[in-house]
Amino acid sequence: MKTIASKLIEAIEKHATTRMNLMEVCGTHTMSIAKSGMRSMLPENLRLLSGPGCPVCVTPQETIDYAIELAHEKDIMITTFGDMVRVPGTRNSLEASSPKIVYSPLDALSVAAENPEKDVVFMGIGFETTSPTIAATIFAAEKKKVKNFYLLPAFKLIPPALRFIADSTDINVQGFILPGHVSTIIGSEPYEFLAQKHHIPGCITGFEPIDILQGILILMKQIIEGKPSITIEYERVVKPEGNRKALELLYKVFEVCDSRWRGIGVIPESGLRLSPAFARFDVRSKYDIEMPRSVEPKGCICGQVLLGLKMPLDCALFSKTCTPMTPVGPCMVSSEGSCAAYFKYGATKGLTEGSKRAKRRL
Ligand code: SF4
Repeated sequence: MKTIASKLIEAIEKHATTRMNLMEVCGTHTMSIAKSGMRSMLPENLRLLSGPGCPVCVTPQETIDYAIELAHEKDIMITTFGDMVRVPGTRNSLEASSPKIVYSPLDALSVAAENPEKDVVFMGIGFETTSPTIAATIFAAEKKKVKNFYLLPAFKLIPPALRFIADSTDINVQGFILPGHVSTIIGSEPYEFLAQKHHIPGCITGFEPIDILQGILILMKQIIEGKPSITIEYERVVKPEGNRKALELLYKVFEVCDSRWRGIGVIPESGLRLSPAFARFDVRSKYDIEMPRSVEPKGCICGQVLLGLKMPLDCALFSKTCTPMTPVGPCMVSSEGSCAAYFKYGATKGLTEGSKRAKRRL
């Protein structure tokens, strides 16, 4: 008896009548695709490109350098999620400054309460999935009158990055596998411009391999029929309107601003900064440190990998000088980075162990 996965793969093969590039925007999709060995089971003329959906990877070098510089101040304690610690800065990484690793922004607030003699800074990285919980933390800090809690805001918004990709004449993407987690918060409406203005379909997809195969098939059908739309495959979680309460909270604390993405540059209205009512929580309002120019690691092509212009294996440093133990760029550090995914699961080396296991399951 055929499994659902094998039926989906057969249907995908039938629809692969022309060359198509689909971009999986989210780092969790990248990992799921690599882990399942899916690439090696798909038709050759269907390419899955990884996009800019890994928050650690898109954080610019100057933000990391600034955090490292702050960590050297004797009255400051840096708190951050674990992935950020090993990202190389221009001279070293945060690891050398022994930051405190936390599992939620509320943990960082507790660290501030426990260390009143220090200014505790939380590195605010992430997309629309994480920023509402950080907004809630800022509210809690305000309510509890915590005076020594600060934020280094480096949040990014996904739809403006997709607009940048869709506007680009260099990047050839015919469909987007849209992020499940981010869409839980923002819904499907903010992506409508992709279908309406750019005629590129998008499918909000869950993270199981079956979800992703389903999403791919939906996109292929729409491309072939020339009827692009924004579809929700991840219906068990995502609503078209998103999570209004989370969005309301988010935009009480933050406001939209232009933001710099690693390797890409400034994308208009693609970031969040604290709104005037909460501006005192921005660590830059207290510590205006003069920084030397930040320099991205020589030979690292993370920026191009994040735009689907290059694959990790196109990088001359991949698995030579750059490995998860000796990362040169953030895409090899992050648990959602495409270079890390390719290294761990050998995603393009034909039938890898991952794909052998996956085929056995079909
Ligand atoms: S393999 Fe390493 S150096 Fe090359 S793009 Fe990826 S992270 Fe950067």
